Order: sequence, then C-alpha cells, then structure tokens
Amino acid sequence: MSKGRILVIEDNVDNYQLVRFILEQYGYETFLAVSGLEGVEAARIQSPDLILLDLALPEMDGWEAAQRLKADPRTAPIPVVALTARTLPVDRQRALEAGCADFITKPIDIGTLLRIVERQLKLARGRESD
Ligand code: MN
Repeated sequence: MSKGRILVIEDNVDNYQLVRFILEQYGYETFLAVSGLEGVEAARIQSPDLILLDLALPEMDGWEAAQRLKADPRTAPIPVVALTARTLPVDRQRALEAGCADFITKPIDIGTLLRIVERQLKLARGRESD
C-alpha cells in the first residue's frame, strides 16, 4: 500500500517526471493531469489524497482550478499544494486565497517537497478522524 495517492497537475513533463521520481522513491503513488480542466476532472474521478498543482497551466490556470476544487464538495477536502516558479508574496497570497493549503516554489527542493506533502497528508487525515 502506498503512503498516499497524489495527483500532480502539471503541463511540463520534465517537472512531472522529477516530482514522480522523488515521491515514488518515498512510497507515494502519483498520477498526472496536464491541464487545469483535466486536473479538476481527474480529482473528481480519482479522489486523490493530495493534489500538487502547477499554477501556469493550459485550458484553465491553477488558481481557477484550485477554486473549482474547493467549490466542489467531492474535492473540497483534498489538500491542494501549489507548485510554481512564481515566488513573489502576491503570488503566494493569490494561491492561498484560491484555496491552496501551501506553496512549493520551483526549482523543487526534495526536502521541502517531502516535508510539505507529509504535513498536508497528516493534517488531512487528522481532519477525517475528527
Ligand atoms: Mn506550467
């Protein structure tokens, strides 16, 4: 059994391969959606434990995807973590306002990725058992 099922919404295949490589090494299962629209649909169908969300995406950007995920009761409880090269405080603020629980900046630091994923999964599991 995996430590968690993680949906990665990312249009850059190299970034996805890196994230997948890191997470699978540490016992997580990952699957990919390559646009905001596909990601929102995949989240509804697959009910992942956590979503890593690129913000610059085709079809529907990450901010809108986060809002839609949070507006739908089927996907609202799933923690969403933004993945982005945008590092300005205003970008972080916008991601949090859209419903992201946390924020990872690119280039991705392995330790930061694992720490944030683990923390968000733990928080979500704590809420489930309330
Ligand atoms: Mn992108």
